[in-house]
This record gives sequence, C-alpha cells and structure tokens, in this order.
Amino acid sequence: MNNLLTVSNITKVYESGKRKVVGIQDISFCVEEGEFVSVIGPSGCGKSTLLRCIAGFEKINSGDICLDGHKVRRPEPSRFMVFQGLDQLFPWLTLKENIIFAMKAVDKSQGSFEKKADYYLELVGLEGFGNFYGYQLSGGMKQRAAIARALSVRPKLLLMDEPFGSLDAFTRRAIHQMLLNVWQKTGVTIIFVTHDMEEAIDLSDKILVFAKGRLKGLIENPLPRPRERDATAYRSFLLKLSSFLEEETTGFLDSEALSAVEAKLAF
Ligand code: ADP
Ligand code: MG
Repeated sequence: MNNLLTVSNITKVYESGKRKVVGIQDISFCVEEGEFVSVIGPSGCGKSTLLRCIAGFEKINSGDICLDGHKVRRPEPSRFMVFQGLDQLFPWLTLKENIIFAMKAVDKSQGSFEKKADYYLELVGLEGFGNFYGYQLSGGMKQRAAIARALSVRPKLLLMDEPFGSLDAFTRRAIHQMLLNVWQKTGVTIIFVTHDMEEAIDLSDKILVFAKGRLKGLIENPLPRPRERDATAYRSFLLKLSSFLEEETTGFLDSEALSAVEAKLAF
C-alpha cells in the first residue's frame, strides 16, 4: 500500500479575542491509500479541528499536511467532508441534481453526468430516489445522499465528522454496512471521526485516540471483517480500547501546556 496522507507535527491554536485555545497540538501520523481510519476521543479533544485542518478549512500554526506529496493549503475536491448535520444538500435541487451540480463543478468535460449520478445513487442504496428533494427523505437517506455527492467528485480522501451521530441505532447499522460496501467497492480512503467506540471498531482498520488536543495512541484493529459484536475477540478489544480511553480525561489543555505551545510558536 502507498502512503496517501502525511500529517507532521501540526498544531492549531484558535484565537478568540485575547483568549487562545489549543485545538490540537503536535499531531503526527500517516494514512495509507485505501485505509479506513477512525479518530476517537471525548468531546472537545480536537477531532473536528484535525479534520478541518486536513480539509484545508483551518490555517495551521505549525507543521505540515501532505496529500499524495502535495501540501494542503486550501479546500480542494481531493478531500471531501461529510458532516453530522442532516441538511447538506441544496434544498431547491433534487438528489440527482445535487450530485450533478458537484460533479460539474469539478469535471469540466461534457461527460454523461446523468448516468454517473445514477451510479452513485445506486452505490449508496438510493436508486429510484434521484427525483426526490432532501426534505422528502429520512435522516439516514440524507446522509446516504451526502455520501453519494461526496464520492461523485472522486475524492482521494473522504473526511467524515460524526456523520451518523444523529441517526438511531437501527439506521446506523444499515448505513455502516452500506459505507463498508462503498469503501470496498471504490477503494476510497476514509478518516472517520466518532466518539462511539463500537462504531470505530466496526468500521476501521486503525484507531487514533485523542485526548486534550493530543494524539494519545494509534491502535491497530486486529479483528477480521465482518465484525461480530458478540464475538469474544470483539468484546476483549472493546475492553482494551475503553480502558485506554478511560485513562484520559476531557476538557481543555491546562495552562502549563498552553504556555508551552505559546512559547514554541512565539506568539
Ligand atoms: P471535538 O470535535 O473533539 O469535540 P473540537 O476540535 O471541536 O473538538 O475542539 C477542540 C478545542 O478547540 C475545544 O477546546 C474547542 O472549544 C476549541 N475550538 C474549536 N473550534 C473553535 C473555534 N472556532 N474558535 C475557538 N475555539 C475553538
Ligand atoms: Mg467535533
């Protein structure tokens, strides 16, 4: 496998007025092409900040992010984000029109966008719903549509920030299965943020554990696919992950750590 993403020593500090808040501090890791990586940790530990930096939405204070050898400087279709919110589509366009809109913005050729849009709708299990509007769909269907639109621009990296956080448990199980099928079929590389340990275990190859803005550990998932939640190996891996997470605490960086970052960045 080839290395796709290299994150080297990145730090992001937010400044609101006089106050500085460390989003993430000195984070380094690599992602191989085709990998499914989760980022897990308590609320406020910097998961979204990390994803936003990789997407190019945030300017980092130090460090480097490289995708396929190119430095990340701004948002580009090579890195597509799917958010938690259920209203990510233009409400005045149908599902199919939303997908075609995204494809046309990226692909200037006069390809057969209709056919391609149908392919992506089918891929996420929404065949037959191309003429529906977002507001006519359930939460799960909206997230499927957001994934179809994201994939239609053929990103190298799909960034998913708690995309299924507002779905019920039944809908989640079905959408997990769909996402795994899509991942296997397209070979897209995924970084998936969650605070749900079972979701991270069910989906990913590698789990990055965050706490207080820092990367605390990188855990390889040893379980074969498909992952059965009642298997003994599953339960013991879940226990291992939860005890690792429990050792960490939630909240902001303490003032000592913040001063260390400030000194390093020479504000
Ligand atoms: P998570 O996604 O893990 O809940 P975030 O990345 O959203 O965590 O937040 C990490 C830290 O950065 C938190 O302390 C949060 O309050 C702070 N933060 C996030 N976004 C901003 C912002 N735009 N301005 C100031 N502070 C922010
Ligand atoms: Mg978040």
